[in-house]
Amino acid sequence: MDKLPVSLIIDDPAPRVFVYYEHAEKRTTEDGRPLLNEVPNQFLLDFCNVAERFGLRGKFSVVPVPGGRGDIVNGIPGFPLEEIREWLDIVRTRVACRFSLCPEMLTHARAVDLASGALLAMNENAWARTQTAATLTPYIARALSLLRQAGLPATGVTSPWDFGIEVEDEYVKAISAAFYQVYGLKDCWYFLRARRGVPNALPWVALNRDGRRVVSVPATAADHFWQSMNTTDTSPEYVSSIADELITEDGTAGEIPDIIAGGGWPILIAHWQSLFSNGLGTGLKALAEVARRIEKNLGERAQWMSSEEIMKLVLEDPERYPAPAFK
Ligand SMILES: [Zn+2]
Repeated sequence: MDKLPVSLIIDDPAPRVFVYYEHAEKRTTEDGRPLLNEVPNQFLLDFCNVAERFGLRGKFSVVPVPGGRGDIVNGIPGFPLEEIREWLDIVRTRVACRFSLCPEMLTHARAVDLASGALLAMNENAWARTQTAATLTPYIARALSLLRQAGLPATGVTSPWDFGIEVEDEYVKAISAAFYQVYGLKDCWYFLRARRGVPNALPWVALNRDGRRVVSVPATAADHFWQSMNTTDTSPEYVSSIADELITEDGTAGEIPDIIAGGGWPILIAHWQSLFSNGLGTGLKALAEVARRIEKNLGERAQWMSSEEIMKLVLEDPERYPAPAFK
């Protein structure tokens, strides 16, 4: 490998629906403002502008049945179909070329009974706890089918919350089976785990059997943009202080240089809500600042990569990327 891979995980986007509002424990910010309950398409355009300006790459979730309110193929009651389609068009034309697309299971809220389409009382992560590959496979396949029908080429999946963590071996088998079923793909990736504060924070091969392979792409840094939801401070000083958590102006301190010093790859994470910052976009400004500092300090040494590119890099030499031991 010539260059240090750098990547950005984006969790929770969906057309128009503010997925975080749908599953938040309380619908106010920490400083007492009401949470917005929708995201304008303009915010996706703003994100694309930042991604293009700094050459960002990574993965981008599309929650296919956001909040259980409707779906990306048949429409979402409360929002004009043309706005849903416009959002998907922007993802197809401006996001998919730099971010690997994935579902973040069906609703990122309550689980769906596949036979009836009804929402169950429990959230998807609680539902997943007691499942097996046999029941997870059709669930994941339904999510992939919706992306495929919407014209979005998925190459992996993201776990809403810690979906599947208690039954991870079954979950990984199910991801592989669902991918083969829906897209005919033998290799895929998933995002579930974080690897923070450990040496050699790297992705790993989670399954390699019968010609089918699944790569686990973890987040190796924290979502420092999250705090921007809970304040109306949008000052350059505040934006700079968020960026400092990941990388300082001179590149000498922050989580990113620490990860690199430990032999790992900086795989950053942000959530749609932490970039949206309840309508203020402060988190997105901080992301742009982080990207500028990465460009300035790592420059030619680093290379932005999508999750699919990371998967391919790992699969060039699978023996080098064994699964870490989890307690
Ligand atoms: Zn999520």
